[in-house]
Amino acid sequence: METSYDYALSLDAADPLREFRDQFVIPLREGREQIYFLGNSLGLQPRKTHGKIKEVLQQWSDWGVEAFFMGEHPWLDFHEKLADPMSMVVGALPHEVVVMNQLTVNLHLMLASFYRPTGKRFRIICEAKAFPSDQYMLETHLKFLGFDPDETIIEVSPRRGEHTIRTEDILQAIKTHESSLALILWGGVQYYTGQVFDMETITKAGHAAGAVVGFDLAHAAGNVPLRLHDWQVDFAAWCNYKYMNGGPGAIGGAFIHERYHGDPSLPRLAGWWGYDASRRFKMEKGFVPDRGAAGWQLSTPSPLQYACLQASLEIFTAAGMPALHEKGRALNDYLIRLLESIVREAGERAIEIITPIKNPEKGCQVSLLMHRKGKETFSALQQAGIFADWREPNVIRVAPVPLYNRFTEVWQFADCLRRML
Ligand SMILES: *Cc1c(COP(=O)(O)O)cnc(C)c1O
Repeated sequence: METSYDYALSLDAADPLREFRDQFVIPLREGREQIYFLGNSLGLQPRKTHGKIKEVLQQWSDWGVEAFFMGEHPWLDFHEKLADPMSMVVGALPHEVVVMNQLTVNLHLMLASFYRPTGKRFRIICEAKAFPSDQYMLETHLKFLGFDPDETIIEVSPRRGEHTIRTEDILQAIKTHESSLALILWGGVQYYTGQVFDMETITKAGHAAGAVVGFDLAHAAGNVPLRLHDWQVDFAAWCNYKYMNGGPGAIGGAFIHERYHGDPSLPRLAGWWGYDASRRFKMEKGFVPDRGAAGWQLSTPSPLQYACLQASLEIFTAAGMPALHEKGRALNDYLIRLLESIVREAGERAIEIITPIKNPEKGCQVSLLMHRKGKETFSALQQAGIFADWREPNVIRVAPVPLYNRFTEVWQFADCLRRML
């Protein structure tokens, strides 16, 4: 029986990635491992992270500032060591990826380079109800440039009575505003509903309309397959503390397609860390960007942050993205099948899956709209040692992830829901 616990056990036994869980610290309560379904919010700590941080502290002790250049792993080499595996996660060439700052900062920086309004073309298309930081970023960036956000931003919403945005409606908005469109700034995966957007199609349509297309990949990096280079995406930015497990406030990431790397007309907000690396320490006047995405860096990065991200990226490299995506899909399919059987029993008036489950690419997150007993169910989950999250007014989000979650955990979650409803 698919809905039996034994079946879940058999899925765990057949899981080729099952041993990766041991590389993470699983939160305990009264000595019992909890079920952590919040990898979409703050990914768990890799066991290696501790050692990597200690190594940086030791380097600092041993060398002081010379640690940038000396020892077995000089800090200056860190960036390249991270850009390589990071580029594999987002489907880019290594020199198209830079690890720097944090997400919202990077979005401002990307807009400084890629939002180049002209008299006629100045509008920006984005999703309605994007993550608040993205909304505030866009609103204030536009005001800073002297634009009226209400005149400039075109938001695309779900249709009345629907929870997610249809691709056809995004394409229609692009067509409608074709002549005034400068930029499309869209999410890879919607944080509230878990909807995975068709980034390739949006990029194609945006380019056909003569616009630049950029993505916020906060919920996409480390979650769904990405091919930023092949899709011809212009730029992207993401954080590394969600599916990427880089730790709280982890250093962020950005992608700039290589076709822009040699374009001196592209404006940018620069700092010395983005200066031509071979001559950075000559301290000369006049900004000369480093080659590739690295030329968008500004400030001296923290080797402590680099170390945290490295611990995580080594695990992603060892597991391999195709295997991770395959298990992510399997966990998600299994969760949805169990949820569908609960919906059949409890009825759609009790619980509704708002994540589009028929999309070819679904990602790890599932969002449940609780029409009744929402808060009670959420407390019951907490009591049962299941970390899920509650979003007002009545949505429970869970994200079983391939690196450290098990099929039996998905079963236990579904079992708890079934009992409540
Ligand atoms: C998590 C998240 C953020 C957070 O931005 P920070 O600058 O890292 O605090 C922004 N946008 C989206 C879409 C997110 O999911």
